[in-house]
Amino acid sequence: MATESHSERPTDVLVVGGGIIGLAVAWRARQRGLSVCLIERHAIGAGASRVAAGMLAPVSEVEFDQARRKTLALALSSADMWPSFAAELAELAGVDVGLRRAGTLMVARDADEARELERQLAFRQSLDVAVSRLLPSQAREREPALAPNVRLALLADGDHSVDPVLAVHALLVACRRSGVEVVEHAGDVAVAVDAEGGRVEGVRLADGSLRAAGQVVVAMGAWSALLDGLPESLRVPVRPVKGQILRLRDPAGPGLLNGAVRGAGVYIVPRNDGRYVVGASMEERGFDLAATAGVVHELLRHARDLVPGISEFQLEEVCVGLRPGTPDNAPLIGASELQGLVWACGHYRNGILLSPLTAALTAGVLTGDPGDPLLALCDPARFHGPDADAGLALERQLTGSRG
Ligand SMILES: Cc1cc2nc3c(=O)[nH]c(=O)nc-3n(C[C@H](O)[C@H](O)[C@H](O)COP(=O)(O)OP(=O)(O)OC[C@H]3O[C@@H](n4cnc5c(N)ncnc54)[C@H](O)[C@@H]3O)c2cc1C
Repeated sequence: MATESHSERPTDVLVVGGGIIGLAVAWRARQRGLSVCLIERHAIGAGASRVAAGMLAPVSEVEFDQARRKTLALALSSADMWPSFAAELAELAGVDVGLRRAGTLMVARDADEARELERQLAFRQSLDVAVSRLLPSQAREREPALAPNVRLALLADGDHSVDPVLAVHALLVACRRSGVEVVEHAGDVAVAVDAEGGRVEGVRLADGSLRAAGQVVVAMGAWSALLDGLPESLRVPVRPVKGQILRLRDPAGPGLLNGAVRGAGVYIVPRNDGRYVVGASMEERGFDLAATAGVVHELLRHARDLVPGISEFQLEEVCVGLRPGTPDNAPLIGASELQGLVWACGHYRNGILLSPLTAALTAGVLTGDPGDPLLALCDPARFHGPDADAGLALERQLTGSRG
C-alpha cells in the first residue's frame, strides 16, 4: 500500500475511490477546511475515468426520455463550471487539462439519418438548448475532413471536451498540493459501521484495520453497489455498463478535425496533440473488461465512413471501461440514511462532465450546507422507500421549467 503523510488521527472525510469523482470531491472538501484522505484500491484513475472520451456534451448527449431531461439540468450547470475548474487546476496543479471549445457536430449521411437528426433538432429546440442546423456545405466548411455524403448536420456550439487522463492527473496534483492524503494500492476498502448500525465509524482497510473518519464518501464508480460492510437495505442500484474505445494518432499531427464529430454508431474526439478517441460501445456484460474484435471492427468502420482520413492514423490502444449506470441514468449525490455515509456515484456516461458540479454539491453536503436545489435531482433516497415520491415531484418541477 502506498501512502503519504499517514496519520492515526481520525480524519474528517474518507473518500473511497480514486477516479475523477473521488479526486474532485476530495479536493473541494479539503478546500472547505476538512481533513481528507482518499483511498484507492489500485492506482489513481484505474477505473472508467482514464478510459472516457472526455466529451463535455450536455446538448449532444441529451436523449428523449424524461430521465435524460433531468440530467440535462445537471449537465448544463456542470458544463458552465468547467472553464473555471480547468483554469483553477492549471493554476494550482500546473497541468493543462486539454479543454477544447470547438463545439460538437452531429452528422447525418443518408435520408434516414437526416430524418432522425431533424427529430433530434426539434427535441433540443423544445428544451431550449443551443443547437443549430447546418447545410452540408456549412458542415464541411467547419470540418473539411468529413465524408462527402453528408446530408445534414447539427452544431452544438457549447459542447466541448477535455482529456480525462490529464484531468485525473491535474486533480491528483491539486489534491496533494492542497493537503489531501492520497492512499493508492490499498486493496478493497469496506465501510465500518458502529455496533448499533446507526452511523459510520470509518473504513475497514484490506488488512482488517479500522481507519476512523467522521464521514465516508463512496466514489467507487461502477463498483459502488459492491461496497462491503453496508446493510443490504442501503445498497444503491449502480451497475457496470461496458464501453470500448480506440485511441488513434495522426502521424501528421493535430488539425484533421477541429471539434468532436458524432455520426451513427460512433463519435470521434480530437485531442490537442494529434491524438483522437473513437468510441464507444455500450454493453451490458457485468464486470467484463475484455476488448473484442467485433467492436473494434465496427468502431473503425463507422469512423472511417464519417471521416475517411482516419484510415491513415496509427492505432495506439483499445481501452475498456465500466460506466456506473443507474436505473434513471442520473447520479447519486448526497447523504445516505446511514449517518456519515455520503454517495457520489452513478455518473453513467457523464462523469467527466459532471465532476465539477458533483464536487461542489458533495462538498456542500459534507460541510452541512446541502442547499443547492440540483441536489434533489440526484437524491440517493429516490431509490429507497417513500422519499422516492418527494424526489420525483421536485424533479418534475425543476425539469418542467425546461419544457
Ligand atoms: C468508453 C467510455 C467513454 C466515456 N466517455 C465519457 C465522456 O465522453 N464524457 C463523460 O463525461 N463521461 C464519459 N464516460 C463516463 C465516465 O468515464 C464515468 O462516468 C466516470 O469516469 C465515473 O467516474 P468515477 O470516479 O465515479 O468512477 P471510476 O473512474 O471508475 O473510479 C472508481 C474508482 O473506485 C475504485 N474502487 C472501487 N471499489 C473500491 C473499493 N472497494 N475500495 C477502494 N477503491 C475502490 C476503483 O478502482 C476506481 O478507481 C465514459 C465512460 C466510458 C467507459
